[in-house]
Amino acid sequence: MRLYAEDGTEYLDAVAGTFNLPLGYNHPCVIKAVEQQLGLMSHISSDLARPHAQRLVDRLLQLAPPGIDAGWIRDATGSTAVECAIKIAQKATGKSDVITLFHAHHGQTTMAGSISGPAWRRRRFPAYGSPGVLRVPDPNCRNCFYKQTYPSCGILCAHRIADIVQQAGRESTACLIVEPVLGNGGNIVPPEGYFQTLRKICDDLGILLIADEVQTGVGRVGSFFASARMGIEPDIIVLGKGLGGVGLPIGAVLMRQELDVLEPADHSFTGGGNLLALAAAHATLDVVGDEGFLAGVRRRGGYLGELLGTHLQSHPVVGDVRGVGMMWGVEIVGHDGRPDAGAAAAVVSCARERYRLITRSSEYGRGNVVKVRPALTATEEDLDEVVDRLRMSVHDVAG
Ligand code: PMP
Repeated sequence: MRLYAEDGTEYLDAVAGTFNLPLGYNHPCVIKAVEQQLGLMSHISSDLARPHAQRLVDRLLQLAPPGIDAGWIRDATGSTAVECAIKIAQKATGKSDVITLFHAHHGQTTMAGSISGPAWRRRRFPAYGSPGVLRVPDPNCRNCFYKQTYPSCGILCAHRIADIVQQAGRESTACLIVEPVLGNGGNIVPPEGYFQTLRKICDDLGILLIADEVQTGVGRVGSFFASARMGIEPDIIVLGKGLGGVGLPIGAVLMRQELDVLEPADHSFTGGGNLLALAAAHATLDVVGDEGFLAGVRRRGGYLGELLGTHLQSHPVVGDVRGVGMMWGVEIVGHDGRPDAGAAAAVVSCARERYRLITRSSEYGRGNVVKVRPALTATEEDLDEVVDRLRMSVHDVAG
């Protein structure tokens, strides 16, 4: 969790790189596996790499939610792995349209950017926001689009999706893509029952459900696949980020057998299924795939949530503390209770400059959520230190 600047200054990283270092920097087992692979060979073409990739897929499938029994590793980024999932949905259903949440983030390639939330980003690129993307409100209980309160709302935000799809034309809709916890959109944890309702809607309307676990997968929420802990029964799952262990680029797409419809030529990249990334993923899986390790993540994640609640929740500029597993967000508001993205950015820079704590604030949504997503290996002492430095930063910025 610790980084050292050239002058020797030590920083504590509360966001595990770009949320992609589940075991922190330079985990010895992962480094050793990558070094061994590098000594043998670093790359072979994607068709020759396929059996190697398949071995990793087979291991992932042993941990995958019921019904997920096929997979591909042809990608080197989360964005193109998301595109792979969309291509599968489009090819399997013969339909084109994609439903996505207002503040979703699915990547920055043209298609992944088109199905991501922030209008300010899409506006800069004419090809973004192409037709065939249907945006629906987030399951955000704190800022409910429909001005409802959970549970008396009956999860209206989920049920309304069915109406919206009906109105737009279910005959052209291929899939609904969701993040188990909206990551860049403000660390939004959907309410109990939300994903079960989505499953039913997808079944009723004949559309596929894609879980984008690029940020939430590989143990981040306390189960290897976030879908398991969040009660999602997806047709397709996308993994990226943390699967590369020490930051090596990789993307995986897992699906129900009958959705294994892409030919190799439909989706294939020079850097996809790279041997070093596969070696890193196997070594990461050795650690994170272990139920005892995941139980520890759930326990320490709960401890982190309690600490944040105890030391930050009551501060006048903290609107909410929310999360699950090792994926937490601290919402910063002004003294008037309204989202304050400027103050959140100031907390992040104060934390880095004064307390040598590395964190980030959300880019999307209201931009006012400070992220706390440390390495899954963080000890209770590490977490005490993270929360202490964050508490001092909030205090310094907001008084
Ligand atoms: N999906 C989600 C949920 C993500 O958080 C990200 C990256 N932040 C992506 C997809 C895209 O991954 P990459 O940056 O590797 O292309």
